[in-house]
Amino acid sequence: MAGVESRLVGGECPYFGCVPSKMMIRAANLLAEAGRVNGMAGRAQAEPSWDPVARRIRDEATDNWNDTVAADRFTGKGGHLFRGNGRITGPGEVRVDRKGDGVDVLRARRGIVINTGTVPAIPPIPGLAETPYWTNREAIQATRVPESLIVLGGGAIGAELAQVFARFGARVTIIEALGRLVPPEEPEAGELLAAVFGSQGIDVRTGVSATHISHDGVGFGVKLAEGEALTAIELLIATGRKANLADLGLETVGIDVNARFVPVDERMRAAPGVWAIGDIVGHGAFTHMSTYHAGIVIADILGEQRHGAEYHAVPKVTFTDPEIGSVGLTEAQAREQGMDLRISVSQIPSSARGWIHKAGNDGFIKLVQDAGRGILVGATSAGPVGGEVLSMLTLAVHARVPVQRLREMIYAYPTFHRAVEDALRDMTD
Ligand SMILES: Cc1cc2nc3c(=O)[nH]c(=O)nc-3n(C[C@H](O)[C@H](O)[C@H](O)COP(=O)(O)OP(=O)(O)OC[C@H]3O[C@@H](n4cnc5c(N)ncnc54)[C@H](O)[C@@H]3O)c2cc1C
Repeated sequence: MAGVESRLVGGECPYFGCVPSKMMIRAANLLAEAGRVNGMAGRAQAEPSWDPVARRIRDEATDNWNDTVAADRFTGKGGHLFRGNGRITGPGEVRVDRKGDGVDVLRARRGIVINTGTVPAIPPIPGLAETPYWTNREAIQATRVPESLIVLGGGAIGAELAQVFARFGARVTIIEALGRLVPPEEPEAGELLAAVFGSQGIDVRTGVSATHISHDGVGFGVKLAEGEALTAIELLIATGRKANLADLGLETVGIDVNARFVPVDERMRAAPGVWAIGDIVGHGAFTHMSTYHAGIVIADILGEQRHGAEYHAVPKVTFTDPEIGSVGLTEAQAREQGMDLRISVSQIPSSARGWIHKAGNDGFIKLVQDAGRGILVGATSAGPVGGEVLSMLTLAVHARVPVQRLREMIYAYPTFHRAVEDALRDMTD
């Protein structure tokens, strides 16, 4: 097997995405927990320092952005690694441009798997291109916390990093063009985050857009459509991701080069002898989606029996504090599909565990039931461990467990997931 990689073996997640960002979040949450000691467990005063965070990301997460360990793991299993830019040149053929150091031509007996991921989507705001803005890559490599930071985009990546830098002392403003934070999530999630962020001193501006961006050598100026002008030392662009499909030679195997994502069937087949997986197929930009797809392709290539790709129970977690976990359809998406719905929301603070937890107990459980089938088609779990509580909801949506059976099961007392039982109890039939 040949693997072609133009940058770092392992992709975005271990070097610039999930892993280092979750290390930052872990550190930021420790500071938040220290702040919660007062009034509940005595007195504590934490002095934030970014040095151990930057060091941990450099040394433990990314090996100083060196992929030797990952590359050795791949070649140790018998893979042949080709470093350079890969381009399909016809059925079963890939040319690897070794960036000025020659060209390799690979011929596949079984097939080609395209897994080129995404890059940050940079909005065409006048002035922006001429400024030294951050994307997730610069934010992850930050060796100091800026005194002030504007985050353009209030989706999962923007919200997570905004809270991290705020907890380490930056004055943070989030600008989100849509009406709420984490727009793909339930409205309650965006409202909750806006309230929590506001109480933590983050300036959240929703429904506003930037019209001009400048940099004077020291800091950024961001003009808003309403006429207001904001300033900050750093600017993080977190306005979404764009599939890496340019110059891959897709047309040589009959794949539409102008499509936003690569169309695939349930076995991830994009063309005869060509599979596509991960962010580029447009079913959610998550590491677990990419590895899920990989399992399907491996089974297909090896001729093993396996269920084709299903997307009715895709879980996702925004690792803010509170965490926002969600699975399946939102209420609005389910309504668009014409389902007869039963909706129920329970509040974490009024659950037994939430009441015990007290400081930092913000959150809720929202369930979306398709009454016609008597099953959950979507759920949101926001709270201190919202991403963990999500697991049982993911199972319920995935396996289409009847709501009646969910009501009949036993929920350990006093856990956060008992708020699921509260929501089920309050759900009208
Ligand atoms: C800040 C941040 C936080 C995130 N947090 C999470 C999280 O908590 N949980 C989660 O599930 N997801 C998270 N994600 C998303 C996750 O990182 C991506 O969904 C995941 O990395 C996508 O995997 P992939 O296999 O599709 O592609 P990628 O990981 O993007 O890998 C694609 C690889 O292909 C290479 N490549 C591209 N074109 C070529 C070419 N022509 N030739 C050779 N090589 C090429 C690239 O260099 C790259 O290494 C986060 C992302 C960011 C930015």
